[in-house]
Amino acid sequence: MSARSTSRFLLKHAAIIAAVTLSLVAGNRACADEPIEIFDAHLHYNWEPKPYYQPDEVLALFKKHRVTGILATSRPNTGTHVLMDAKAEGLQVVPFIRPYRVRADIGSWFNDPVIFDLVQDEFKRGYYRGIGEFHLSGKAADTEMVKKTVDFAVANNLYLHAHADDEAVEILMRHNPRARIIWAHTGFGLASERVASMLAKYPKLWGELSYRGGIVDGSGKLTPEWRTLFERYPDRFLLGSDTWVPERWAAYGEIMAGYRGWLAQLPPTIAKQIAHGNARALFAEK
Ligand SMILES: [Zn+2]
Repeated sequence: MSARSTSRFLLKHAAIIAAVTLSLVAGNRACADEPIEIFDAHLHYNWEPKPYYQPDEVLALFKKHRVTGILATSRPNTGTHVLMDAKAEGLQVVPFIRPYRVRADIGSWFNDPVIFDLVQDEFKRGYYRGIGEFHLSGKAADTEMVKKTVDFAVANNLYLHAHADDEAVEILMRHNPRARIIWAHTGFGLASERVASMLAKYPKLWGELSYRGGIVDGSGKLTPEWRTLFERYPDRFLLGSDTWVPERWAAYGEIMAGYRGWLAQLPPTIAKQIAHGNARALFAEK
């Protein structure tokens, strides 16, 4: 090619390159505008005896708010079966066995052999990845039934989803040091230093952040202590809606928007880990 034809060639192709670049930039902008994907790692689709929202309504809600994965539980477990059977496109459903038939079981399951039977029976469905959410306060965790539940989880490669104070989490870990625990609400208002020491002490402990206080200040700005925690343990946090009452479903969009508000203040890599990456890694196909 002569110098002249080379420059003609370049000139002709410059226009094409410019057009391609422009469309790529436009494409990227469209992606950046899409809200970050969220994995909801604390979801209840209760069925007592009917759900408050129909299955297609909750599935539409996930789609609308770009929730692409859920840790699904239900009291009783019927709601979880329905979500599993829906086989919704673009939604990873990770089912956990709820050890409750009725709300009152919250206060007695840890001493109730019938509940341990329920867990073992439900497990036979074959698709479960964990047990929970269950509630424990302090020494209530120190029972034979709880120890059996933790051992059953470890033996069957199941996670535990524990709404518990730090003392109960320590007892669970003592029952079986191989336990893997998703810590619902991450201690609520527990000091961030204590959360940090728990995460340091137990490498198989993940903090789920629904109802967790102190993450943002009154103006929605990420607090320095929680920024530090997220930067120090980017692979140890999960988000959740905790739809334990209909009001939480009604506020579902606001809850997700609240998370996205502070996620946007973190480095994008960390934001992605907390929004969905950590849950995806925990619940990758067996
Ligand atoms: Zn809950």
